[in-house]
Amino acid sequence: MSSHDEFDAFEGAAAASLSSRAMAARPTPYLDELNPAQRAAVEALDGPVLMLAGAGTGKTKALTTRIVHLLMTGRARPNEILAVTFTNKAAREMKERVGRMLGQPAEGMPWMGTFHSICVKLLRRHAELVGLKSNFTILDTDDQIRLLKQLIAANNIDDKRWPTRMIAGIIDSWKNRAWTPEQVPASEAAAYNNRGTEIYDQYQRRLKELNATDFGDLLLHMVTIFQAHEDVLAQYQRWFRYILVDEYQDTNTAQYLWLRLLAAAHKNICCVGDDDQSIYGWRGAEVGNILRFEKDFPGAKVVRLEQNYRSTPHILAAAAGVIRGNQGRLGKELWTEAEEGEKVRLIGHWDGDEEARWVGEEIEAMQRGTRGGPAMSLDEMAILVRASHQMRAFEDRFLTIGLPYRVIGGPRFYERMEIRDAMAYFRVVVSPDDDLAFERIVNTPKRGLGDKAQQKMQVFARANGVSLLDGARLMLQDRALTGKGAAQLSALVDQIDRWHAVARFHGLNQPTVDDDAVVLDELPAPPKNLVTHVELAEQILDESGYTEMWQNDKTPEAPGRLENLKELVSHLEAFDNLQGFLEHVSLVMDNESETEGAKVSIMTLHAAKGLEFPAVFLPGWEDGLFPSQRSMDESGLKGLEEERRLAYVGITRAEELCTISFAGNRRVFGQWQSALPSRFIDELPEDHVDVLTPPGLYGGGFGAAGMQSQIHDRASRADVYNSPGWKRMQERQTNRPMAQPQEVRTQVIDATAISAYTVGERVFHQKFGYGAITGIEGDKLDIAFDKAGQKKVVAKFVMGADDVPF
Ligand code: ATP
Ligand code: MG
Repeated sequence: MSSHDEFDAFEGAAAASLSSRAMAARPTPYLDELNPAQRAAVEALDGPVLMLAGAGTGKTKALTTRIVHLLMTGRARPNEILAVTFTNKAAREMKERVGRMLGQPAEGMPWMGTFHSICVKLLRRHAELVGLKSNFTILDTDDQIRLLKQLIAANNIDDKRWPTRMIAGIIDSWKNRAWTPEQVPASEAAAYNNRGTEIYDQYQRRLKELNATDFGDLLLHMVTIFQAHEDVLAQYQRWFRYILVDEYQDTNTAQYLWLRLLAAAHKNICCVGDDDQSIYGWRGAEVGNILRFEKDFPGAKVVRLEQNYRSTPHILAAAAGVIRGNQGRLGKELWTEAEEGEKVRLIGHWDGDEEARWVGEEIEAMQRGTRGGPAMSLDEMAILVRASHQMRAFEDRFLTIGLPYRVIGGPRFYERMEIRDAMAYFRVVVSPDDDLAFERIVNTPKRGLGDKAQQKMQVFARANGVSLLDGARLMLQDRALTGKGAAQLSALVDQIDRWHAVARFHGLNQPTVDDDAVVLDELPAPPKNLVTHVELAEQILDESGYTEMWQNDKTPEAPGRLENLKELVSHLEAFDNLQGFLEHVSLVMDNESETEGAKVSIMTLHAAKGLEFPAVFLPGWEDGLFPSQRSMDESGLKGLEEERRLAYVGITRAEELCTISFAGNRRVFGQWQSALPSRFIDELPEDHVDVLTPPGLYGGGFGAAGMQSQIHDRASRADVYNSPGWKRMQERQTNRPMAQPQEVRTQVIDATAISAYTVGERVFHQKFGYGAITGIEGDKLDIAFDKAGQKKVVAKFVMGADDVPF
């Protein structure tokens, strides 16, 4: 331990010395920025405090001010404060906020961070108590899976029935509940024939032999140590004189136990959270932790905050309207003094690409200040998606128009592992000489072609001056590789040849000089059932076993990866062939040199927790996508409620402008699927929502200019309707039949044919949405709108509800 150790032996200095009294007399201007409730929470320095309040009410602000107050009054030194947040980004922000208030960087606060980062540090000090050395390694998921696979094989367990990833997931969930193998309850163990606990036990032993931990161990081991070694626990109870926890609603059981143990002696623990923002149930978070705080810490001071400082009244009302749909909430009403501002904007688009295009244009207009209102910086805008595959459309669009963006909390779409893998397959298929790509895929999924086999291939390739793929061929011919690996490699080589032959029919960008003719001459006649390049891509991923690899993967990320792959394949439709697509990607990715300066943020709703932006876009509000079908299938009503909390989190990130959108059609795996607007949209309170007219079919509005642009837009849309994608969609349309554009045209232009309507008919109005006709009077219709109430409108601005193409 260095003399600047994080703990810096500091005990007994809390006595009311002159110096500490002098500290206490220092000015506290930061307190003036708080409202009375916040101030009460900050000034109640000792004893348990719970701040349970809605979004944007200043919980994090109060928490950080409390840290400053502890420091300024001399109650604690920086190294005596344990402050836990959820993400690294949140931890960084916390440090910055504290630094700003202190007027100097918040140095020497080693115990401010995420649960994991703090537990790693602690565990290194006490590793030997759980049979590890202090230099233990932390395994990533891949290593973890490899290790488990070995154990499963050694135990003769059928990994078809018990896929490795599934077992990994089970073990993880046990760790989240702070159960060591011995502590897993009998009923739970029996649910997996007691095999799960056996493997878990062996796995833990093996980790110890390797001097390693996985992620879940970091907390589990610390809880184990605290429970078994009173002296160690007592030491930390003294050291961490004050404990503060942000986003408490998302702690899992292990985290909860760890905190409770540390706070048990002095009970100086301040937790802040919002039950309506609990969004990590799928990772074992227990919202019950926050609700039982008062039981765990009797006499806790409970502070409720109701004034929201972040958002406009319209935004707050919209969020409140949605979250009201959940049962069993504590129920909190928020108010604000902020100016009314703009209503939440709602817009339905034709398809996902159009949605991305529109958002791009809006962002540019906001940046220029031509949307109305002052010009905004890109840093002030964020796009929050439910699923990471939604990012593809936005990233592509932004790269194309040169709009700087950053993806927070994950790699950019084309940099994701599964996308790189898939593209490596496409690259090999298009150009079999692409050694780098071949190297990437040759043993992904696993084909028994480890380092040794790959080195041999290299030797053959180099010795003969050929590509790696050809090297592999030669190696096989020479029987330099035998067994299962050889059979699988041979199958792969054959597959690549076959795929390559198909890809050539789609037109590779052959050299444009004379030998072009030669190349084309060599091509046999195209097979009758030639698949499209989109179908080819799908086949490549399926036949290679790549898709299956992720289907068998039971980690939480796997479904998202499969969705990304689907998104990738869908996007191919926009290109003539695989090569055109690969070129597009290399060009757009090249465009993006790391620019300094302002950028639009793109992230998932989960990653947006605790953050705020003046303008927020919430795209993809379609049933199945959001709320996510998967989470509803897996967890039923509970899942739906968690989705609704995510919607609440999303809306409440916005300060001034919140735009929700949905698309009527999405391409999924090369097929068009029509989607229904999210049920959450119907839960938005209509008084606080402005329904925007989508561009395209309806043009920019009514009147001559509007008509003009409608006609113009329709002309450009003709391309869409004549495209193969559209036709295929028409053929494959399984759900709702969609209106032909011609029908729409007659409706819009000729809608004065009033007799076309009858009382009771469902119609759609561009401004007021859906409704039913209650009366007809000349060219005016009385309509009871679902959202906007009873209105009289001119018939030509209405169309039949069935004709609405989104
Ligand atoms: P979330 O639930 O989303 O995490 P929160 O409750 O943590 O929200 P903060 O992020 O702390 O809310 O605060 C929201 C915004 O309101 C911040 O911009 C913050 O600076 C501001 N704010 C908080 N309290 C006050 C106050 N008393 N006076 C003025 N502004 C405040
Ligand atoms: Mg917060």
